[in-house]
Amino acid sequence: MVVGRFAPSPSGRLHLGNLFCCLLAWLSARQQGGRVVLRVEDLDTARCPRRYALQAMEDLRWLGLDWDEGPGADGGHGPYFQSERTERYQAALQKLEEMGLVYPCFCTRAELHAASAPHRQDGQVLYPGTCRRLTAEQAAEKAKVRAPALRLRVGDEEIAFTDRHMGVYRENLARDCGDFLLRRSDGMFAYQLAVVVDDAAMGVTEVVRGSDLLDSTPRQLLLYRLLDLPAPRFCHFPLLLSHDGRRLSKRDADAGLEVLMGRLGPEEILGRLAYLGGFHPSAAAASAEELLAEFDWAKVPQADIPIPEGLFG
Ligand code: GLU
Repeated sequence: MVVGRFAPSPSGRLHLGNLFCCLLAWLSARQQGGRVVLRVEDLDTARCPRRYALQAMEDLRWLGLDWDEGPGADGGHGPYFQSERTERYQAALQKLEEMGLVYPCFCTRAELHAASAPHRQDGQVLYPGTCRRLTAEQAAEKAKVRAPALRLRVGDEEIAFTDRHMGVYRENLARDCGDFLLRRSDGMFAYQLAVVVDDAAMGVTEVVRGSDLLDSTPRQLLLYRLLDLPAPRFCHFPLLLSHDGRRLSKRDADAGLEVLMGRLGPEEILGRLAYLGGFHPSAAAASAEELLAEFDWAKVPQADIPIPEGLFG
């Protein structure tokens, strides 16, 4: 049985990018007769207060994108808010610690972003491994004045996988990524760890998400392997861009449901999204159910998709 999921991090009202993701995840799972799980990725509780999650659930229902399991629909894998699943992340962390793969990192943000720091392709800083070399005594000394973050020691190895939509993707973790965070110094668990623990615990077999997370996948595959968990299949889709070619963000108020709802009904929004996705012949309104018959990964482009000006009113 295919199990897909919605995994939003609602830090505001959902925008077209989130809706595109939920639509594709829903269509892909449902077309295969699969189930859908809703999990709220609210690790950053300050940015993701509960009211936004509740609003997101209401909005998804309004659009006709339903789920079988999630907050309020217990399928035996809850809780469905990451903020309530910390002991599970702690247990996974402990397992990695017992394997000798975790070390404390005392580097400050300023140190990490020093001009000399090497950068990854995505502009993130490549961690130079400074604290990897600390002795236990040095680490204990530093821990007296500063709480450490925790990093996973990665090996000089290539991790490759075949994305269902984007094809083969490979990365050498040591060279392209570096030792990555499992827990921040303030105690917040990292997305990379939480998403792996949860997708496995919730029986997710298919992860549909934007291509901005393609390069997170090798890190996640490493964690699946180390934690001895079954990895799902990944389908990364192209991102929606504003008409002038920028990535959509919260600042694009026009792309937020708050504004869209005032102009368009749910089927008008879905039809336009499906048209952008390449599998609906025009921008005509269509329900999620109707789109099931048309959805085809082969028609979805691989390159990012600028939203034509005026398409959403
Ligand atoms: N919570 C993430 C987001 O909203 C999605 C993570 C994922 O799909 O793996 O960007």
